[in-house]
Amino acid sequence: MPDAIDYNTLVRMLKGAVAQIRENHPALSRLDSFGGDGDHGTTMLRAMELMGKTIDSSTTQQLPQLLNDIGWAIMGVDGGATGPLLGTFFMSMSEGASGKDFLDAPTLTAVFEAGLAGVQHRTKAQVGDKTMIDALVPAVRALGQAPDLATALQNAAAAAQSGADSTRNLKAKFGRAKNVGDKSIGSPDPGATSVALIFRGFYEGFQSHG
Ligand code: ADP
Ligand code: MG
Repeated sequence: MPDAIDYNTLVRMLKGAVAQIRENHPALSRLDSFGGDGDHGTTMLRAMELMGKTIDSSTTQQLPQLLNDIGWAIMGVDGGATGPLLGTFFMSMSEGASGKDFLDAPTLTAVFEAGLAGVQHRTKAQVGDKTMIDALVPAVRALGQAPDLATALQNAAAAAQSGADSTRNLKAKFGRAKNVGDKSIGSPDPGATSVALIFRGFYEGFQSHG
């Protein structure tokens, strides 16, 4: 396997994320029903179906353009916090990938770092506040420490999952779940769980053969 992500490999990774959310969206809504309004799974499903449609109807073969189109599409998903935050993630990744035809391991890390920075520009949530940030930060950190792309993506998926798991015993400090106080303790954050699924999808898509 070449140690760089080209347009078609990126498409496989993104479609891997779509597949994960399609499979798991009912569980995401269930998690959101404990502290939020129970819509996170359907919002994520809408966002990921839009990502799939954007990919399928895309005529560009340019990696940054595809990420930008996906970002705009997801940004328009209503239903609260997720659309703007996730849309920003992909738009900022697009900026990080500017001028690139393929992503090697260091470039991929830089692209995800740009995505994370974009999200952090939009929210003050830190690790430990029980949000998607708890999965995103360790995932992006893990990427930069691996010798090759497959290991980087595998480690990022594992780190995102541990991050999501770590939110179980935390009290939500952002989003709707903040309003229920201690009742948010005992179940993992839905947004962090989504991020873990997305990174698992990226890894599975990367490993699959087109
Ligand atoms: P809403 O809470 O507006 O209904 P969703 O249910 O789609 O939106 O998403 C809820 C998830 O969004 C939470 O689990 C959390 O991970 C994330 N989230 C909500 N608000 C914020 C915020 N201010 N900063 C970071 N993440 C947030
Ligand atoms: Mg919700």
